[in-house]
Amino acid sequence: MKNKKDAASKNIIKKISLNNKDSGEEKIRIKKDLPLKEILKRAPPCMCEACNNGCKFGSGALVVNEQLKLNDLKNIAKHLKISEEDLKKNYLEEIERFNTKIFRPKLLRKRNAEGKELPFGRCIFYDDKNGCKIHEVKPVECKISMGCKEYSEQLSQWFMLNFFVNSKDPESIRQFNAYLKAGGKTLADGKLSDIIPDKKLLAKILDYEILS
Ligand code: SF4
Ligand code: SF4
Repeated sequence: MKNKKDAASKNIIKKISLNNKDSGEEKIRIKKDLPLKEILKRAPPCMCEACNNGCKFGSGALVVNEQLKLNDLKNIAKHLKISEEDLKKNYLEEIERFNTKIFRPKLLRKRNAEGKELPFGRCIFYDDKNGCKIHEVKPVECKISMGCKEYSEQLSQWFMLNFFVNSKDPESIRQFNAYLKAGGKTLADGKLSDIIPDKKLLAKILDYEILS
């Protein structure tokens, strides 16, 4: 997920957020099952220095989902006029969260004084002058990354619940449980009991009685 910790960028975001509040922006509650179409209405395409700054430290995950008729891989490859294989090989890296593997644009990581690669880095598609080089087809997680909205954190949680936490994978559920226990945030309707309502089944999963 994109890192938006830089102080300068935080200030810009704060100013935009204040403007949003001044303009009477309604308090929005994002629900876990809200379809992507509705989510995108709350995340209109825009580009400014505040969000661009996040691209200097991370990148957003791609979504490939037949049911949702979503294929970031195909769209980005088409936009760059290269094959999906070349896109994966030269521009993407695989990440794993909650036992789910997803591609994201490669991070160009620097090394520290000991020669160890840093965990963060600039997105391979970020250009200092023009911002995102694939803005029109950028990954879904980038599209919904709205630095200045008061519900931006909820959008990240919506993405996590819909594309990383897998209710059909017991290990994913156990890792999500560990995340929550460590103080990780989720949506109001994205608790463990919302994802696995069957209490007995949930207990078996958490007790490793069901492994996969
Ligand atoms: S794909 Fe574009 S929006 Fe997403 S992190 Fe890279 S440069 Fe930023
Ligand atoms: S969502 Fe990001 S890019 Fe869009 S206006 Fe807000 S801070 Fe700028």
